[in-house]
Amino acid sequence: MKCRRKINEKERGGGRRLRTAAARRGAPGAVNTRGPQPAARRRPVHPPRRVARRTARRLGRRLLALAAFALLLVGVWRLSAWAAGGVRALLGRGYTASDGLVAGSGSATGGTASPPPAAGGWELTLVNADHPLPADWQVETVEVAGGERVDQRILPALQQLFDAARAQGLYPVVASGYRTNQEQQQILEDKIAAYRQEGYPDDLARQAAAQWVAQPGTSEHELGLAVDINPDGSMGTGQELYDWLLEHAWEYGFIKRYPADKVDITGISNEPWHYRYVGREAARAITEQGLCLEEYLGEG
Ligand SMILES: [Zn+2]
Repeated sequence: MKCRRKINEKERGGGRRLRTAAARRGAPGAVNTRGPQPAARRRPVHPPRRVARRTARRLGRRLLALAAFALLLVGVWRLSAWAAGGVRALLGRGYTASDGLVAGSGSATGGTASPPPAAGGWELTLVNADHPLPADWQVETVEVAGGERVDQRILPALQQLFDAARAQGLYPVVASGYRTNQEQQQILEDKIAAYRQEGYPDDLARQAAAQWVAQPGTSEHELGLAVDINPDGSMGTGQELYDWLLEHAWEYGFIKRYPADKVDITGISNEPWHYRYVGREAARAITEQGLCLEEYLGEG
């Protein structure tokens, strides 16, 4: 008790000294009249100025609160952007956010022929031997883990597909994505060369290669909407992954583009790894009705 009283006395004394000093300096708001300080405080000499100052202080506090709120918003936005980046980086095994799934982007235009895009939107564009890549086809690609590129519009669905596979202990990779016309040409020539190596005469080598590799300008890979999906070399078998894709890819808008029982329509041999984005609605219908894309679009 004794101590507390002493402190209080000190505080009072200090306060008085401060007020006196302020009055001596003639500081704004300092009391000019003689007499006890508390009375002066109750009746301010310049009330409008005080009100203005109080209003300014209040305004200042509000601005400060507003700035803090804005900072908070920016923080939340940055955090969610970071989280999204982390999720995207999962495409492929062992990739962290700093590896970055999206390594870059580019753009390219289509081939020489110009059939109108299939009704129903870009995702239903048909490309096969009879329907070359539309001349006005434009693709903005993004690089995915492993270095392949895909049309950026299919990235979210592809990510979901890969995430779902990973949740089942499967580790898919994009073995082949978007290809330029020149790249398609090279792949075809390599395949022909491989058949020649096996002893095929030239014309038969070309025929055999054509069963697997589309002619430049007629490959879905040139759309950027098709991906060859293989298992990561060290994780699981191809068959496990292909079985899972066959059952679930449609849920994410992808179809197995060249089924074994549609070779006479597609002209391409059974390719358990080649998946094509067509959107969820079409993928569901195509899968449920057991169609290929040509049949679904009335071109089969
Ligand atoms: Zn393919």
